[in-house]
Amino acid sequence: MKTVILGKTGLEVSRIGIGGIPLNRPSEKEAIAVVQRALDLGINFIDTAIGYGKSEERIGKAVSGRREEVVIATKTGGRDRDTALQHLELSLKRLCTDYIDIWQIHGINTVETLERVLGPGGAMEGAQEALRKGKIRHIGFSSHNIDMALKVVASGWFETVQFPLNFVSDEAAADLVPLARSLDMGFIAMKPFAGGRIRDANLAIKYLLQFDSVVPDPGVQSVEEIEEIVDIVNSESWGLSSQDMDRIRTIREKVGTRFCRQCTYCMPCPQEVFICGVVYLPILWELWPPDWFFNWDYVKHSVESAKNCIKCGECEKKCPYQLPIRDMIEESLTFYEQKVREYKRSMEKAST
Ligand code: SF4
Ligand code: SF4
Repeated sequence: MKTVILGKTGLEVSRIGIGGIPLNRPSEKEAIAVVQRALDLGINFIDTAIGYGKSEERIGKAVSGRREEVVIATKTGGRDRDTALQHLELSLKRLCTDYIDIWQIHGINTVETLERVLGPGGAMEGAQEALRKGKIRHIGFSSHNIDMALKVVASGWFETVQFPLNFVSDEAAADLVPLARSLDMGFIAMKPFAGGRIRDANLAIKYLLQFDSVVPDPGVQSVEEIEEIVDIVNSESWGLSSQDMDRIRTIREKVGTRFCRQCTYCMPCPQEVFICGVVYLPILWELWPPDWFFNWDYVKHSVESAKNCIKCGECEKKCPYQLPIRDMIEESLTFYEQKVREYKRSMEKAST
């Protein structure tokens, strides 16, 4: 497995990592087998977050006895020092380790969040404290908002940036990737398959390997998936042929531009609709096990808030991608209700 230095962290990581959300879907035994297979195949970079369900716990069990082989990145959604440090203690416990290689502040999507994180008593104070105590080794952040990501990268506080990058959602390619590179920051590409919209793993991974300073972290949930990805990375040539480029164009056209990038520009909604949560429900459905999905406060809150929508259209004026948000909210709710019905039916069937 080829490796790359993750910017100024100096960490030598495999050319591709794995992302931890889908590790919730299989059984614990299978999830552990996936991570261990990845390690056996030379992958040494795993990214997760405290908010990713059982992911940290499962990774912790999988890397037990092999901690030194792996670079672990996790995230806190805590904005203040105390919450962030509480999260860190829990992450350390779940991951069965006494240090995190890269601790990321999760989802810096607004100026308010950045000010809170960097302000007095903010999460950065906690991160610096944890750094001094050796509980974390490097500080990174993640974001879905391109303007904010550019600002945060330029702030100089962080060593890595994690942002969506794939060939249907490639906003980061123009400025963010070059800026991070020029500042010697590690770039972790989340959503390499565009949240399930790209089904062709070969094309998705080869596209990302064109960026030599970027480490993609595809979410995997089976041994077959990780073996397929490693085969692509280990293949002789990463170049994109003219047929590949045609196929990329076709997929781009098919997927279209009608999907939410989670940038949050459309929020806040005057009716307090949690827009980016609502329109993301079909994608979350693909990522999480049904019982987790239905019981997750994030999902419940998104669905409840959607009922407040009065279709005023204010959000659509703020969306840089001109998304028909009102229609998408309606479609998401219909999708959710259909899944609820299907789930109830399957539970009834299972109990008879
Ligand atoms: S259309 Fe609905 S979601 Fe959009 S701003 Fe109006 S109330 Fe909020
Ligand atoms: S609906 Fe548009 S503005 Fe709102 S989060 Fe999605 S892409 Fe961003």
